[in-house]
Amino acid sequence: MDEFVMDEFMMDEFMMEEFVMSSVSLNRLSRNELSELVPVSKLRCAGLLVLLIGALFVAACGGAQRHSPPKNVILITVDTWRGDHLSAQRAGQALTPELTAWASRMILFADASSVGTQTSPGVAGILTGLFPYRSGVVSNQHVLPATVPTLASKLREAGFVNAAVVANPLLRAGFGFEAGFDHYELVERASGEPKARASELVHRALGWLDERPTSRRFFLWLHFMEPHGPYVPPQDVLALFPSEQFDAPRELELLAKGDNSGRGGIPHYQWKPIASRSRDGRDYLARYAAEVRDLDGELGRLLVRLERDGLLDDSAVVLSSDHGEALAGDNGFYFSHGNELTQDQVHVPLLVYYPGCTPGAVVANPVSTVDIFPTVLAILGLPEQRDVDGRNLLAEAESDVMSETLHEVSLRAGSWKLRAGKTAPRAPRFFDLALDPREDAVRPVAAERARELGTRLRELRARPRQAPSISRFHLDEERRRELEELGYL
Ligand SMILES: [Zn+2]
Repeated sequence: MDEFVMDEFMMDEFMMEEFVMSSVSLNRLSRNELSELVPVSKLRCAGLLVLLIGALFVAACGGAQRHSPPKNVILITVDTWRGDHLSAQRAGQALTPELTAWASRMILFADASSVGTQTSPGVAGILTGLFPYRSGVVSNQHVLPATVPTLASKLREAGFVNAAVVANPLLRAGFGFEAGFDHYELVERASGEPKARASELVHRALGWLDERPTSRRFFLWLHFMEPHGPYVPPQDVLALFPSEQFDAPRELELLAKGDNSGRGGIPHYQWKPIASRSRDGRDYLARYAAEVRDLDGELGRLLVRLERDGLLDDSAVVLSSDHGEALAGDNGFYFSHGNELTQDQVHVPLLVYYPGCTPGAVVANPVSTVDIFPTVLAILGLPEQRDVDGRNLLAEAESDVMSETLHEVSLRAGSWKLRAGKTAPRAPRFFDLALDPREDAVRPVAAERARELGTRLRELRARPRQAPSISRFHLDEERRRELEELGYL
C-alpha cells in the first residue's frame, strides 16, 4: 500500500472549530463581500436553456415524443482539456467550431470538475464512479485494482461488447484500466512524435465499429492525447492562432525550467521539442489553443460518421476530460497539471447526448466526473450501481464535487470551494469562485457554510475504500523515456 495514501486527512474537529471562529469575526467585517450560492433556475441565458438538473429528467421523459433507452454508449475523454476551452474563442478564432455546433443537440454541464489533476485518477474517477482514495488510484503511480467494478465490467455483465482505443501510455494494458474490455488498444505514437494523434484514434475506432458484432449492444471508449503537452499542433492549424494576439503572461520572457513541474516557468518537456526553444508564453497559449482546434476537427469527423451510420439514433455520447491545465501562470504554474486543486486544473468540459435529451440545455450546478458512471447506467436503462460516489445527473440536483491529490482535497458547495492539506497540518482554506475564479485570495466564509463543507468532507472521507492503492510496476527503459517526454517522470 502506498505510504502517501495511508496518511489521513488532517482537518480534525479542533482545526475546523478554530477556523469557523475566525471566519465569524471576519464575517462581521465584510458581510457585504459574501456571496450566496449561485442560484440555478430555469431561465434563458445567452440564448441557451439553463435548467435545474432535476428538470432534465422531466424534460427528457415528459415530452410528446418518448424514447426508449439507447442501445449503445460512446465515451470520449480528452486528456488535459480545460473547461474554458469549449465553445470559446482565442485570437478571434473559434476553439471548437464543430463541438459548439454539436453542443446545441446535447446537454452541457458547465461547472464539471475532475476528481484529480492527473490522468490515472481522473480516468479512474470516470470509469469507476469513485473518488480517488476509494478506487485506490490517487496518483499516476497507482494501477486500478482489478477488484473495483468499472463501467466496462458492469456493461459486459449486461451483455455489451466493449472496446477502448486510448492514446495515453499511462492507460497501457496492465495498468488496470483495461478491465472489462473485449478489445483494448493503446495507439502508439509515430516514430519521432511525442504522442499519438487523434486522426489515428478516430481511424482505429471507426475500424472497430465496422467490424463489431452488430447483434450486441456496445460500449466504445476513446481517450485522446490532444491537447496534452508537448503542444505540437499541425502548422496549418497553428497558423490560425497568431501568438502575438494572445495576452502575455505576467512576464513575456519566461524561465525555461529544467524540470517538469511548471512552477514558475516553462516545463522542460514543453519547450524541449519546439525547435525555437521559445520562452515567450504566448507561443504556448497559441499552441494549446491549436491543439484543441485540431482535436475539434477530428471529433467533428467522428460524430458526423456516427450520425451517417445511424448510430446516434440509438447511442448515448459523453465527452469529458481527465483534468485541466495551468496555462499562463495560473496560481504560479505554467503549461502543466498535476499540481494543485485549483479550477484551472480541475474544471473540465462535460457534454452528454442521448436520443430525446433536452437539446442545448446548460446545467449550472457543480457536478463531478464521478457522476458519469451512474448517469450512463440510467440513460441506458440499466440497474444502478451501488456504493459509487457519483450521482445520476438526470435525476438528482446535488452532486458531491470532491477532488483529491496525494497532498490535498477539495470540496464544492455552490460557488464555495474548500481546499485542505491531507498530510500537513494546514488550516482549511475557503474560496468563493463567483468572486474569485482564480482562487487568488482566501475568503471569509459564513460559519454555517464552513461547518457544512467540513462536515460533508469528513462524511465523504469516512466512506470505506473499495481497494488499497497499488503502486505501478517497474517500467523498462523505453516506457520510462516515453513517459518522461510527456512530462510524467
Ligand atoms: Zn491526463
